Amino acid sequence: MRALALRRGAETAAVVEKPRPEPAAGEALVRTLRVGVDGTDHEILAGEHGGFPAGEDHLVVGHEAVGVVAEPNRTGFETGDVVVPTVRRPPNGGNNYFQRGEPDMAPPSAYHERGIDGAHGFAAEYFTSRPEFLVEIPPALAPFGYLIEPISITEKALELARASRSSFEWSPASAIVLGNGSLGLTTLAMLVDEIDRLYCLGRRDRPDPTLDIVDELGATYVDSRETPVAEIPSAHEGMDLVYEATGYAKHGVESVHALAHNGVAALLGVPRSWSFEVDGGAFHEQLVMGNRALVGSVNANARHFRRAVDTLAGLPAWFLDELVTGVYGLDEFERAFTDDDSTIKTAVELSTR
Ligand code: NAP
Ligand code: BGC
Ligand code: ZN
Repeated sequence: MRALALRRGAETAAVVEKPRPEPAAGEALVRTLRVGVDGTDHEILAGEHGGFPAGEDHLVVGHEAVGVVAEPNRTGFETGDVVVPTVRRPPNGGNNYFQRGEPDMAPPSAYHERGIDGAHGFAAEYFTSRPEFLVEIPPALAPFGYLIEPISITEKALELARASRSSFEWSPASAIVLGNGSLGLTTLAMLVDEIDRLYCLGRRDRPDPTLDIVDELGATYVDSRETPVAEIPSAHEGMDLVYEATGYAKHGVESVHALAHNGVAALLGVPRSWSFEVDGGAFHEQLVMGNRALVGSVNANARHFRRAVDTLAGLPAWFLDELVTGVYGLDEFERAFTDDDSTIKTAVELSTR
């Protein structure tokens, strides 16, 4: 079968031939339909994130996937079921995080991430998986099913943010999403119905397709070149919720200064090491005297994936059509990895049915 892999020492992915995987007892064989590409995939190709499976000279990429069960193999699924795989797998048989269904909370030594770190991903014509790592979705959602993984990321992050505010009556009326990439825009669309005053931070000039989506969602664009994150309250208002999806490390600290009293900032970006000067006293004081909170969030578990299925079903068709700027076959997979201002979300198509 054909797969999309990063070889050790390479800077781009390539199509490789691999044997079709044989499902072990208790594993289903899944025919892959589509695999989404996100900022993390670009970081992996740049050698900034993730790692190869032990003893292997390549990593099959792709962690956002949708596929069709080809061989249920006594997993409880039926041939033809449309499924989305979760990302984390136990490295040595299992551990408590996986037994509790909370692998997203595991420390790095207790998981591999398929397509990212230590385990092959889903950008192959077939993959195998145990059933507890597969979430069934309605067939009608299959064309956009690879968006369930990134949506699950936001389901979890918002859950953590709300949990941090659960000891008092918290009804967020304002929120800013930092970042107009695919994760930022998807989160913006998820917040539209809940948040009255919604903002999105970027660093682009108009005309720009991501800013068109910000406008069409009814959110206000904030240009970080004119309004640094820490100055958002004086230019607009203090935010009840900040959702950071830029990967720009200063935003992790500055988010605290963008918050209203009692607000919470969820940090999602995965920056590299970067030293810069910070007024640690003001940072500390703002957190304490404003009852503010900062939460970091990574990955998501099957419960978040199941919630994401309903969320995807509720997103407007126009939004999905504008968000996804291209779906490409393996023969032209390079186009799915284009990193320019007209590309928002892309996917690689492995099979059409
Ligand atoms: P992406 O497509 O690279 O989006 C990042 C966006 O942030 C880009 O649109 C970029 O603008 C914007 N940006 C960067 N620095 C900025 C600044 N200083 N001011 C304003 N805008 C800025 O990546 P993504 O796929 O949406 O993911 C976003 C981040 O979340 C990445 O760091 C990714 O690794 C991380 N992530 C984390 C998780 C998790 O589980 N925690 C899951 C998925 C992704 P330009 O395009 O104009 O440069
Ligand atoms: C993936 C998560 C993963 C994280 C860190 C994200 O792009 O969507 O599932 O945990 O990267 O590797
Ligand atoms: Zn991702």
